[in-house]
Amino acid sequence: MKTLYRQFTIATLFILAISILIGFTIANIFYITVTKEETIEQNVGVAQEIVATVQNVPYSEESFDRYMQAVAKLGYQIALVDNAGDMKFYGEPFDDTAFPEEAQRVLTENGTYTGLDSFKDQIFMIGHFTNELHNTVGVPFERDGENYGLFIRPDTKLLGTDIHSVLIGFVVAIGLVSIIGMIWLARQLTRPIVQLTEATKHIARENYNYPLDIKRNDEIGQLSESFNLMQTQLQQNDLARKSFISNVSHDFQSPLMNIQGYADLLKSPDLPDADRLAYTSIIDQEAKRLSSLTRQLLLLTSLDQGAYPMKSKEFKLDEQLKAVVRKYRWRLEEEDINLSYSLAPTLFRGDAELLDNVWDNLLTNAIKYNKPGGSIEIALKTIGPDVIVTFKDTGTGIAAEALPQLFDRFYRGDAARKKDGTGLGLSIVEQIVQLHHGTIKVNSKIGEGSEFILTLPHSDVKQT
Ligand code: ADP
Repeated sequence: MKTLYRQFTIATLFILAISILIGFTIANIFYITVTKEETIEQNVGVAQEIVATVQNVPYSEESFDRYMQAVAKLGYQIALVDNAGDMKFYGEPFDDTAFPEEAQRVLTENGTYTGLDSFKDQIFMIGHFTNELHNTVGVPFERDGENYGLFIRPDTKLLGTDIHSVLIGFVVAIGLVSIIGMIWLARQLTRPIVQLTEATKHIARENYNYPLDIKRNDEIGQLSESFNLMQTQLQQNDLARKSFISNVSHDFQSPLMNIQGYADLLKSPDLPDADRLAYTSIIDQEAKRLSSLTRQLLLLTSLDQGAYPMKSKEFKLDEQLKAVVRKYRWRLEEEDINLSYSLAPTLFRGDAELLDNVWDNLLTNAIKYNKPGGSIEIALKTIGPDVIVTFKDTGTGIAAEALPQLFDRFYRGDAARKKDGTGLGLSIVEQIVQLHHGTIKVNSKIGEGSEFILTLPHSDVKQT
């Protein structure tokens, strides 16, 4: 695998190499266009200066040599060539003393020789540093009636001054510090990514407690914060899933045990008829409970998947509510509960089948948790674009501390445990209301009753 760290380091070194190349090219262009000509002119000037000095003064041979050596010490390599081709050198020796053809004209035609120009074959300014007689400037001069050629070039070794060493040290230090800095930065950037990868592996193994301690004030810091948030969320989901499974198993287990127990008792041949009837009706009740639990679980699961295929159509909401009331009329009479309603005729667009579950749940709860002789009021009205449905009962009421869990799956109030139920009804109601982009609120006072207020927005709401 190509690690990010390796890629980053290679990319940095590559950029460094490219920058050196570009820097070198720019320096060369500058040298070729500006510096080279200036250097040649400068050197020719120096050579002419020397010639002007020695030509007019009748130096002895010894004094002449001393003068030339003194000039050489100032930082020049000098070659003195006479007509016969004899050469005399001052200063640092040349690596190559071959006398160039073109330089001959200094002696024959009194011309000037600029050797740097002939170094076109050398790459860029490297030619400037070539220590050869070829790479000099030459001027003619006359001494004691004889023609000479004076060829000089700056001694590049002597050109390296203290400042140059300091500058080179400076550049090398910058280079080193940059490389070390880049490597350090690459490590800093990749370390949290390695930590994050490790953490994802733990999550894949369902370990949601992996401590990811990355405190940074940048995008990686944000990523790690989101990661920790996701970890907490996954942990909660995992707990919810486990408790859901345990609740479901428990809720299936107890009616099944009851059915099994009473079915065993029924096998006894001398069982009195009255007991037989009682046991059969318990089995019947428990089977119904199981069936309703399965139905509700199936509905919840399909709603949970988030892609529930809503079968929206326009229907008369008031008629639907009346039909639900009709369905439970016998139970209301049995429990001696008085039900009244005020339903404004309303056309509503939504999933009628799902909403039927909502009214069914709210009405059965209002009956189940009511008191004998109590009452229920159902109202339907339209306020602006919202349809408001309320179910108000004079039942047991809900304790304030129970309200936050009311819509949780399998939540059942203490008093409710004596009654039939699964604890899934209100969570289904809430999901369906949310699917219709609505809200549900509860006002309740213990001992006085409860009021469930549903707001279902719909732009297509019409009064009929
Ligand atoms: P279930 O009725 O099957 O227990 P629900 O999800 O419908 O489950 O209701 C959850 C709990 O909320 C009930 O167990 C009960 O304690 C409480 N509850 C719901 N509706 C009412 C109501 N109208 N009056 C009093 N308590 C209620």
